[in-house]
Amino acid sequence: MARVATIDYEMCRPDKCGIPCIRFCPINKTKPYKAIELSEEKKGKPIIYEERCIACGICVKKCPYRAISVVNLPEEVEENLIHRYGQNAFKLYGLPMPIESKIIGILGPNGIGKSTAMKILSGSLIPNIGQFDREPSKERVLEKFRGTIYYDYFNKLYQGQLRIVQKIQYIELIPRYIKRGSVDEVLKQIDERGMYREVIDALNMESIRDKDISMLSGGELQKLAISAALLRDANVYLFDEPTSFLDIRERLNVLMALDRLLPRGSYIFIVDHDLMFLDYIADLIAIAFGIPGSYGMFSKVYTAKAGIDHYLKGFLPSENMRIRNEEISFRLHEAREDRYIAKSSEVIFMWDNLVKRLDGFTLTVESGQAYRGEVVGIVGPNAIGKTTFIRILVGELKPDAGYTTSIAFRMSYKPQYLERVVEGCSSVGECLKSVNSDAIKEDSWLYVEIVKRLGIDRLLSKELDSLSGGELQKFYIAYTLVRDADIYLLDEPSSHIDVEDQLSVARVIKRIARLKKTPIFVIDHNFLLIDYSVDRLMVFNGIPGREGYGSAPNSVAKALNSFLKSMDVTVRRDPDSGRPRINKPDSYLDRLQKTLGQYFYIE
Ligand code: ADP
Ligand code: ADP
Ligand code: MG
Ligand code: MG
Repeated sequence: MARVATIDYEMCRPDKCGIPCIRFCPINKTKPYKAIELSEEKKGKPIIYEERCIACGICVKKCPYRAISVVNLPEEVEENLIHRYGQNAFKLYGLPMPIESKIIGILGPNGIGKSTAMKILSGSLIPNIGQFDREPSKERVLEKFRGTIYYDYFNKLYQGQLRIVQKIQYIELIPRYIKRGSVDEVLKQIDERGMYREVIDALNMESIRDKDISMLSGGELQKLAISAALLRDANVYLFDEPTSFLDIRERLNVLMALDRLLPRGSYIFIVDHDLMFLDYIADLIAIAFGIPGSYGMFSKVYTAKAGIDHYLKGFLPSENMRIRNEEISFRLHEAREDRYIAKSSEVIFMWDNLVKRLDGFTLTVESGQAYRGEVVGIVGPNAIGKTTFIRILVGELKPDAGYTTSIAFRMSYKPQYLERVVEGCSSVGECLKSVNSDAIKEDSWLYVEIVKRLGIDRLLSKELDSLSGGELQKFYIAYTLVRDADIYLLDEPSSHIDVEDQLSVARVIKRIARLKKTPIFVIDHNFLLIDYSVDRLMVFNGIPGREGYGSAPNSVAKALNSFLKSMDVTVRRDPDSGRPRINKPDSYLDRLQKTLGQYFYIE
C-alpha cells in the first residue's frame, strides 16, 4: 500500500490544540522513531513521515481542526505520480490524455487537480514526479513518459514546438496584467486568425467594445478572455472553467462559438462544471477523481455521453473504480411539485404588477405569489433586472408602480457578488454563530441539515478570506439559510460550485424550504440546480441594460419551454439518465421539437 498523508496547514493550529496528533500517535509511543512531529520547516507545525505511518487514522480523528487526511492507495498507483506540491501536500496521479483534433472535456470536483493538470499541459508548471525537494526537470518528465502517448506531447511542448493558449480559471486576475485599454484595442492586437469580427458577433460583444478592461463585469471579463483565446493561433487550447459568471444565454453563445470557431486540428482541453455545456462541446471526457485537497487522478477518456453518465452514476468501468457512493439523478418535471403546491396552497407572499425605472433601465414584473415551503426559480440573462426584482422584494428598492406585501416580512438574502468580509466576525464558525447560535451546535437540526450537508463543518475554523470560491459560496448559502426569516432569496448559489456540491446545494435549498415552511427564491444559470430544486420558475426576458420583463411563476416545464424558445435552442432528455442535453442546431430532433413547439422536450 502507498500512503498519502496530507495536512492542510491553513487549518492546523498547534498553538491551540495541544497537538493530540503527535501525543496519541501509536508509532510515536511505541517505536524508537517518530511518524509525526513538529517541524521547523513548517514553522512549528507537524509533518507526517508517510513511510513510517501505519494509517491507523488516530491523528485524523483527534485533530480538532480536521486538518489531517491519511489514505491508502494501491502500490501500483505510485507509478502514475506526476506531481506533488510538497511534503504532506496534494498529489496528482496521471493527466488527461492529449489527443490531437479532439476536444477533451474534464469533469471533476473542486480541489482535485484539474487546474494543476492544465498548468502542466501548458508547460507553465514543470511537474516534479513527486520529488518535491529537487528542482523539477524536463528531462525527468520525458523519461517518465517514455513509451506512452504523453511522451510525444511533452517532447514537442518542451522543444518549443507547441504554441499554447490558456484561458485561466481566475479571470479576476486579468485586469492586473492588462492595465489599460479597451476591449477593442486589446482584442485587435492579438487577432492572429483574422477573426475579430466573427468572434465579437458570436460572443455578442458589440456593446462592450469600447469599454475599458478595468470596467468590465465578471461575465464580460470571461467573454474577453475566451475571445482572446479564440483569436490566437495555437496548437494547444486550454480552457479552465469558461462558463463561470456567464448567464444561460451567454453560455449557449460561448458554446456555439467554441464549437464553430476552435481550430479542429489542435489539442483542446476544456475544464467545466456545467454538465450540459461539456456534454455538447466535448468529443471525449476525462474524469478527475480522488479526495479533494489530498490526491487526484485522471481516468482514461470516454465518449462524452458515456463519461458523463459514468460520472453521474459514480462508477468508472474502465478503471473498475467507484468514485462516489451515490448516484446523481435527474427527475422529470411534470410529476413534480405542482402537486406540492396544490397540497399547501397557502399564499404567504405576493407582488402586484411591479414597475421600476433606474437610469436608462425599466423593469416590469407580472403579478405573482409565493406559497409556503416552495422554491421559486428565476432564470434570464445578465442585466435584465433579476437582482433588481429581488431588491424590490427585500424592500431595498421601492417600486415606481405596483406593490409587494413584503413589508411585514423578515427576509434573508444572499447577494450575487460575495464579500470576503462580514462585520463583527472573521471565521466561518463565528459568522454562522453570529446570526444563529444553533447553527454550530452539533445536535441542532440546522447544523445537520445545512452546515453538515454543505460540508462546511470542516471549515468552521477557517477565516473567510482563506476560503476558495466554492467554499465561500457554500458558507454564504449556509449563512443565509440558518437565519430566522419568512422568505429566503439566493442570487446565483451555483457559481464556483462543482457538480457534487451543486447537488447538495439543490437538496439543501429544497429541504429548508419544506422544513422551515417558507418560500425560497433562487436565481441561477445552472440547469442541474434548477432541474433538481425548483418547484416553479420565473423567466426574465427583454433587452439587457434597457428593459426587462419578468413573468409570473409558472410550472418548470412551461417556463423552460418559453425560455428556450426565446433563445431558439432545443433541449432533449436523455432516455437513460433523464439528464437534459442540448440538440445540435438543425439536427433532426432540433427541427422536430421546433415544429412541435416543444423546446424543452418532456417525453
Ligand atoms: P481544481 O482545479 O481541480 O479545483 P487545483 O489543481 O487548483 O484543483 O488544486 C488541487 C489541490 O492542490 C488543491 O488542494 C490545492 O489546494 C492544491 N494546490 C494548488 N496549487 C498549490 C500550490 N501552489 N501549492 C500547494 N498546493 C497547491
Ligand atoms: P441582473 O440581476 O438580471 O443581472 P440587475 O437587476 O442587476 O440585472 O440590473 C438590471 C439593469 O439595471 C442593469 O443594466 C443595471 O446596470 C441597472 N441597474 C441596476 N441597479 C441600478 C441602480 N441602482 N442604478 C442604476 N441602474 C441600475
Ligand atoms: Mg481549478
Ligand atoms: Mg444579478
